[in-house]
Amino acid sequence: MQHETIVIVGGGPVGLVTALTLAKANKRVTLLDSKLDSFNPDGRVLALSYASYIQIENLGVIVGDFVTAIDKVHISHNGLGISNINARDVNLAHLGYTIKYIDLVKALYKKIREYPQIKLQKALVNDVLTNDSYATISYSQSDANNPDKLLTADLVILAEGGLVKQKNTKYKMHDYAQQAIVVKLKTHKPHDNIAYERFELDGPMVLLPSEDNYILVWALSNRLVQDLSNKDILLTKIVDLAFMKRFGTIELVSDISIFPLKLQVAQNRVLNRVVLIGNSSQTVHPISAQGLNLGLRDVRDLCEIVMHIDDFSLGVDIINTYNHKRRLDVGFVSNFTHVLAKFLDHQSPLMSLTRSLGLITLSNCKYLQNKLSRSLIFGV
Ligand SMILES: Cc1cc2nc3c(=O)[nH]c(=O)nc-3n(C[C@H](O)[C@H](O)[C@H](O)COP(=O)(O)OP(=O)(O)OC[C@H]3O[C@@H](n4cnc5c(N)ncnc54)[C@H](O)[C@@H]3O)c2cc1C
Repeated sequence: MQHETIVIVGGGPVGLVTALTLAKANKRVTLLDSKLDSFNPDGRVLALSYASYIQIENLGVIVGDFVTAIDKVHISHNGLGISNINARDVNLAHLGYTIKYIDLVKALYKKIREYPQIKLQKALVNDVLTNDSYATISYSQSDANNPDKLLTADLVILAEGGLVKQKNTKYKMHDYAQQAIVVKLKTHKPHDNIAYERFELDGPMVLLPSEDNYILVWALSNRLVQDLSNKDILLTKIVDLAFMKRFGTIELVSDISIFPLKLQVAQNRVLNRVVLIGNSSQTVHPISAQGLNLGLRDVRDLCEIVMHIDDFSLGVDIINTYNHKRRLDVGFVSNFTHVLAKFLDHQSPLMSLTRSLGLITLSNCKYLQNKLSRSLIFGV
């Protein structure tokens, strides 16, 4: 049976950054992904915090040509209360950058291919079991009708986005009964590197500057998503919003992509020889654009531990420290995002007043604003 030292399951941004970070520290890794780099673009644009951007750049991955800077975030809702967060308030050149998911993944694969220590293998992982000494992966290869194959490893890092559930851990789950509509908007007024978080009655929306356009991410109830999945109907709905008048004429310049939204947080991130990171460990609502940023901090903390393990046969109790190390940051971001998503979904007048008061307090309290911004950029 094939045996490897470190296997990463999942070649999304989190798995790829993990592979590069470990390879840079001279570790040999095997990366399994069901598609490898033959994936289809899904329209998603990611807001990378300044810290995430630096983490990727430090790996020598060239993303500069594909990013758009975010210098200001404007937060408002349908009612009173506006808050602005500026890069200069947190002493940074930019708050972060946006990049298309596909451009990021392609740039990471390009770098990966420069490392002979990284073995890429196309495989659909069906299950991962573990005991004290090793983990066993069962997988299939789409090009063959063979039964499942087995592979063992000293350490398995699960970064497959949360689809291969671990039987021995509990997950905190919430179905928002919402889906995110993602579409590219061309507006008459240029974006001036400003991102918007807007709480509309129908659901929260994020507008991210991306090249010369905006990417709209709008979380709506399942029923509304069905009604708005036609481009003409969606455009009419968007231009009718009072908030959108500031952008002048608006065109939809891409197809509509739809993503189901859920909260899924593993209560235990380390199970003997298996570690959960990125969306595999926590899938959060995209309202605060934090999923990948949180996942990249998982990578940073896990790799710091793993790169110092020379011999896995001597026991890997130290890996358990990862669980503890990530508790606070994951707890803060997943709870913050969940409360925000639930709180913003409420349409009662009392909730609207509470939201106004919250935003007015945030805009008048620079200390609170800066503390929150720094936590979301650098982690807790
Ligand atoms: C609409 C939307 C907008 C978002 N915006 C932002 C944002 O602005 N900022 C931000 O930080 N985050 C954002 N996120 C979250 C972000 O997309 C995720 O947190 C991030 O993609 C997680 O990366 P990952 O590598 O953990 O998982 P994924 O990106 O899900 O990658 C998983 C990989 O594993 C592979 N895989 C899956 N199952 C298997 C299997 N069984 N066997 C082998 N391989 C497998 C897949 O092919 C894929 O390559 C957004 C999410 C959505 C839905």
